Amino acid sequence: MSDDQFSALVLEERDGKVTAGIQRLSDDRLPPGDVTVRVKASTLNYKDGMILKGIGRLVRSYPHVPGVDFAGVVETSAHAEFKPGDEVVLTGWRVGEVHWGGYAQKARVKGDWLVKRPSALSLRQTMAIGTAGFTAMLAILSLEEHGLSPDKGEVLVTGAAGGVGSVAVAVLAHLGYQVAASTGRASEHDYLRSLGATTIIERAELATPPSRPLAAERWAGAIDAVGGTTLASVLSAVKYRGSVAACGLAGGNELVTTVLPFLLRGVNLLGIDSVMCPKATRIAAWERLSRDLPLGKLDALTSSAGLKDLPDLADKILHGQVRGRLVIDVD
Ligand code: NDP
Repeated sequence: MSDDQFSALVLEERDGKVTAGIQRLSDDRLPPGDVTVRVKASTLNYKDGMILKGIGRLVRSYPHVPGVDFAGVVETSAHAEFKPGDEVVLTGWRVGEVHWGGYAQKARVKGDWLVKRPSALSLRQTMAIGTAGFTAMLAILSLEEHGLSPDKGEVLVTGAAGGVGSVAVAVLAHLGYQVAASTGRASEHDYLRSLGATTIIERAELATPPSRPLAAERWAGAIDAVGGTTLASVLSAVKYRGSVAACGLAGGNELVTTVLPFLLRGVNLLGIDSVMCPKATRIAAWERLSRDLPLGKLDALTSSAGLKDLPDLADKILHGQVRGRLVIDVD
């Protein structure tokens, strides 16, 4: 590769249809920003699937380079915190959505958006975790802040075989929680047990609206990647003063429930946002991931693909067919 030429997956829009192709670009096509990064890896998240397929009008301007996260090495920097050679990680800040993202061999962003690679993780491992795994840790931090601890009882993870879910199961199990993993895929039961799940809950059990506003108290806490009826069902069965971290909408963005779990059981519904999360929380979450996510389990939940595979993989993630996390090798 000549120094100012790089490959990128570029989305174009014609007649309302979004298409993806790999192009060679020169540095002068990169957007404004004070740090240029030689990207080593990116990942596929649910939101990337939506962007790659032009769903949800997340991207307003084409041509566009997607990829909501990346890890790489600083090439040039006008930011006081970073110098050439520093290894950095980016998640969120609407990169890959409003700003050009990580599905390229180079990215240019605001240095304020970057964090240094946590010393216990390789660049590839940070992307095996990626936005989804980072979000799982934000959910766990928030549950802990609201009083969750292993002695309180069982914790439920929904969408468990996906990216957020797999990391959540692995970390919670490592922390000593009894983890119930809800999945729609019978083929992934053994996988989820290998990550540390102690109970498997069929997705269908949570997918019908709760028959009563308050079901029997079961969950000390929950991490929900699914939303919709699943979240309503979970809320109805949370124990007194338990909490649910709402992370995702893989099953729908509506929430039809009653106030009774909040008023009669003091249940907390915790919103989790990884995109605009403040920097201090980001650093704390990466520190906890370095400590509490066993690397053997991270390997077991990760697979790899290349830029050219992304259009097909986008369909798969939107149909709930990707297991765990997918690292995208950009070279
Ligand atoms: P994945 O596709 O990897 O995981 C989602 C999982 O949800 C699937 O694997 C599947 O799990 C389950 N699922 C899929 N479709 C349905 C359905 N129709 N009904 C019920 N369950 C379903 O995505 P990610 O882990 O990357 O993201 C999960 C969610 O979290 C997404 O909605 C995403 O937008 C959101 N998210 C939010 C973030 C934030 O900042 N709040 C950041 C990152 C992600 P199984 O097969 O085990 O049932």
